[in-house]
Amino acid sequence: MDGHMLGIESDRLKTAEAKEIDPLALLDHLNLGVLVCEIDTDHGCLILTANKSAQNLILIDSNLVNQADPGSAALAKSMTLDDIPVLEFGEPLLSEFHRALRLQRPVQYEWQIESIDSTKTYSCNITPLDQSGVAKPRILCTLTDKTTEKRAQANLLHHALHDHLTGLPNRSHFLNRLEDEVARCKNEEGRSCAVLMLNVDRFQLINEGFGHPAGDAFLIEIADSLRACLRNSDLLARFNGDEFAILIDDIQSLDDATGLAKRIHEMMAAPRKIAGVDAYMSVGIGITTSEISHKHAEDMIRDADVSMHRAKKRGPSKTIVFAAETNAVRTGQIQLETDLRHAIENGDLELHYQPIIDLENGNSIAFEALTRWHHPIHGPVSPARFIPMAEESGLILPLGRWAMMEACQQLAAWQKSIKNTQNIYVNVNMSAVQLLEDDISRTVAHCLAQSGIEGRNLRLEITESALVANPEFTARCLHEIKELGPTLALDDFGTGYSSLNYLNSFPIDCIKIDQSFVGQVDRDEQSSKIIRIITMLADTLRMSVVAEGIETSEQHVMMRSLGCRYGQGYLFSRPLPKDDATAHLRKQFK
Ligand code: C2E
Ligand code: MG
Ligand code: MG
Repeated sequence: MDGHMLGIESDRLKTAEAKEIDPLALLDHLNLGVLVCEIDTDHGCLILTANKSAQNLILIDSNLVNQADPGSAALAKSMTLDDIPVLEFGEPLLSEFHRALRLQRPVQYEWQIESIDSTKTYSCNITPLDQSGVAKPRILCTLTDKTTEKRAQANLLHHALHDHLTGLPNRSHFLNRLEDEVARCKNEEGRSCAVLMLNVDRFQLINEGFGHPAGDAFLIEIADSLRACLRNSDLLARFNGDEFAILIDDIQSLDDATGLAKRIHEMMAAPRKIAGVDAYMSVGIGITTSEISHKHAEDMIRDADVSMHRAKKRGPSKTIVFAAETNAVRTGQIQLETDLRHAIENGDLELHYQPIIDLENGNSIAFEALTRWHHPIHGPVSPARFIPMAEESGLILPLGRWAMMEACQQLAAWQKSIKNTQNIYVNVNMSAVQLLEDDISRTVAHCLAQSGIEGRNLRLEITESALVANPEFTARCLHEIKELGPTLALDDFGTGYSSLNYLNSFPIDCIKIDQSFVGQVDRDEQSSKIIRIITMLADTLRMSVVAEGIETSEQHVMMRSLGCRYGQGYLFSRPLPKDDATAHLRKQFK
């Protein structure tokens, strides 16, 4: 349709066939609002014609409509934009009319009318009509109600940018805002912002202990409490699960961010009702600021995330501020993690076996299997370095399964090739992560079945931290393992929580006293008193005691006199490669 040539009185409508039909009445059949207006510099905008749809859309007062034919396109008297209630917001529309006239071509306009309870959106097509023969310029404006479509679009957009559980902005939303803020900080001298990453400590306990609905309710409550700690201009987002992010823009100093972290820890310190139970929850917080020159928003999030993970490793309610050098360390660690993954896949790890000695007769009764990694470039990497890394990355699951299988098969080989070794057992270290995340009793059953060794010949070493992480769940796992035959040792006793409670609540067979205690026993009276209490308690509970890290004969003698029956340490033997361990066994059972 040629808009320039459009005229409501057009000759084209007055063809012989159309003579009987009122062209204006025809417009009423259109599902499209049609307005014809005259632009009058004195009277503003005079509406000449409004079809039924237009009357309905913009609520033209029925009194103003031709009474003889209510709802018809013809208006009883002339009216202006101002006569129409919704058109008191008609100013922008009028200026678009003027624009179309100025340009002498059709213009598109999205007209939004906001009222208290709703926002209406009309798509308007404004076309200047043929000017010839008329004194004042006229406009044809078609109106389509786009309100529903707009709402659907806005809904979609909201869903794309918000977390459905808490209603908070999601990662994409956060990233968009942060990207703008990072750019602003680069351009405006002295402007900086901070990102806080938060993760709820031990959140999986809520899900596992009380069920997912309780976990969801808790997250909604946390979201509300966090919001209450923030200023209006701060942005709080939920990234996933129990991970939240906060952007504080325009900070004066790092104190703004650490102060907020402190307020959040204080807010978290109060008990919360979870499924009717008082629970004390906490968060780990990582902070970074734009002072460290970040190129992109993603870099800030990554750095805050690194610090948050470090904070969580330090224990509950900790905050760590990212330092630039962490990044370099992190990069090295990521490389090392990749190398470890390959070492596991390629079978490059090895087990060394340290004899555990009966202190009364000097015989080896067992071997503790300890994983060794010889890195092709860095040489031997200490388990103190790669085990925590494996726990953090999840690699401990394949590593732990491998170590257990390898140790069981080695013992099977010894039992086959060396006579009278049927009572020798092998100790395998088991990380808390394996207990929580692996189907550990299945792994144990599989290793026993594949190697053919008896369950009683396998002892699993766990640390106290594994017991506290999720006591009920862990107790269930440990009982399941024990039903398969293996025994359990509590490793590094004395370094952790040393709660004597654990000894009673878990099916423990053996306590391994940590080497830091054993190392002091000949110098520090306090240590020897504690060791004495532990051995007496173990006797009562029918548990055996192993002293770790015996290095001198004095320590050996002291430990024996304090009632400790078994020990391991450099005094007797270092952890041995498998061939040396085989030779060691052969010597004893010759
Ligand atoms: P752990 O289970 O307490 O193992 C004993 C550690 O003490 C071993 O260190 C051992 O080499 C060392 N040791 C033994 N006797 C002496 C001594 O007389 N003096 C001194 N100073 N040290 C002694 P290693 O092999 O470096 O392992 C360190 C830790 O890494 C282990 O402590 C264990 O917690 C962990 N680990 C090692 N292999 C594995 C594994 O396959 N799985 C898991 N989950 N953890 C492992
Ligand atoms: Mg151990
Ligand atoms: Mg130990």
